Amino acid sequence: MNHLPTKRLRFCLLTLFIVLSSACGLRAVEADKPSKPNFVVIFCDDLGWGDLGCFGNPTIRTKHLDKMAAEGMKFTQFYVGASVCTPSRAALMTGRLPCRSGMCSNKKRVLFPDSKGGIPASEVTLAEALKQGGYSTACFGKWHLGHLKPFLPTSNGFDYFFGIPYSNDMDRLASAPKGREAVFNPKPEYYNVPLMRNEEIIERPADQTTITRRYTEEAIKYIDENKDKPFFIYLAHSMPHIPLFRSPEFVGVSRRGYFGDVIQEIDWSVGQILQKLRDTGLDENTLVVFCSDNGPWLIFGDHGGSAGPLRDGKGSTWDGGMREPTIFWWPKTIPAGEVAADVGSTMDLMATFTKLAGVPTPTANKLDSYDLTPVLKQTGTSKRESLFYYRGYDLMAVRHGPWKLHLYTQTGYGGKRETHNPPLLFNLEHDPGESRNVANDNPEVIEEILAVIKKHQSEMVFAESQLEIR
Ligand code: MG
Repeated sequence: MNHLPTKRLRFCLLTLFIVLSSACGLRAVEADKPSKPNFVVIFCDDLGWGDLGCFGNPTIRTKHLDKMAAEGMKFTQFYVGASVCTPSRAALMTGRLPCRSGMCSNKKRVLFPDSKGGIPASEVTLAEALKQGGYSTACFGKWHLGHLKPFLPTSNGFDYFFGIPYSNDMDRLASAPKGREAVFNPKPEYYNVPLMRNEEIIERPADQTTITRRYTEEAIKYIDENKDKPFFIYLAHSMPHIPLFRSPEFVGVSRRGYFGDVIQEIDWSVGQILQKLRDTGLDENTLVVFCSDNGPWLIFGDHGGSAGPLRDGKGSTWDGGMREPTIFWWPKTIPAGEVAADVGSTMDLMATFTKLAGVPTPTANKLDSYDLTPVLKQTGTSKRESLFYYRGYDLMAVRHGPWKLHLYTQTGYGGKRETHNPPLLFNLEHDPGESRNVANDNPEVIEEILAVIKKHQSEMVFAESQLEIR
């Protein structure tokens, strides 16, 4: 009889143990479940709207990007904040038109190795905004928002940087072949571009033949090391900006020649990143965005890309310069295989990511950013009504609904600026190639857009150019 209380006690202890351990287990499961989504932005350099299979390219094979689009949402009307590298990247990173931050110029289109300026400390970067929510932040690839210490990624919200501080065609050595030979038959040693880890130069010239692969490997390692906390990865490929380079395994793989090989390596990279997210179980808690900083560099012939049906390319405020092939991927949150009807912008990533991360959207500076969450979740539409196309500090054109009005036009490189008074007007929904001016038939639309411009310009405050500081 004496053993009964002991047995009861044992039973009670066992029950208590089971209850406690399952409660702890539940807590452990809850603690493991990440409450904030991860963000990965894969940003190409000078990729055209027409350079991916899923955007209609006839010869470049992009099976991983095509799959990403089939599993996610394609944006066919997604824009960047400028038609060249530095201002476009500043727009993405700040959610603001580059003329508001001074990251543009009417004299120099981008930052150069002798530039003394860069992204001002007063700007709140996407990385800085997300850090408030406890995010780990890393930048892989091309930065191009200033190469001096105060302007580097590690001074602007990123915990880690592995990449090149400016374009891969800069620092061309005097000993390199003259003219286009160094572009069309490039060798890494022609371009004394530094490869950096954080603030240190670790390789110079950077071996660009393996650079896409190495950015990818670094990003994958970072995912592994940070899989237990929220992270933001900005993977800004330095390709397909000329001079083109690809790893030995991608030489000659594409019918589209050198350029196609380069895109197929980027496509491989996208496949690696998405597979790593699946393998680590993070895929359903990670929003991946694929885009590019500006349109194709058409003056380089078949070493540049294609804007598909869009007019002109890099450097121009025709749509070919600023509309980019864009995919948002987030399994089970973004419905698979959808195409967004809305217009979006890289500037919208600020409002969208901060909303999804549950951190305050920066209010210190005027934003040009609209939350895309309702579009991604198909619960509503974007509140964006207009899109402003600047070249330096000059407002060249405005998109308002389906309409695009041009005050001035100029091709990307070379060519004279044309002033249009009355303005040109195109309906981009019927005529994405901007080939049929319908201004005469739509005077009321012109009046409406001119009123939008007047309001925009009356409220605009330009910052002093950072690109002209010497
Ligand atoms: Mg670019």
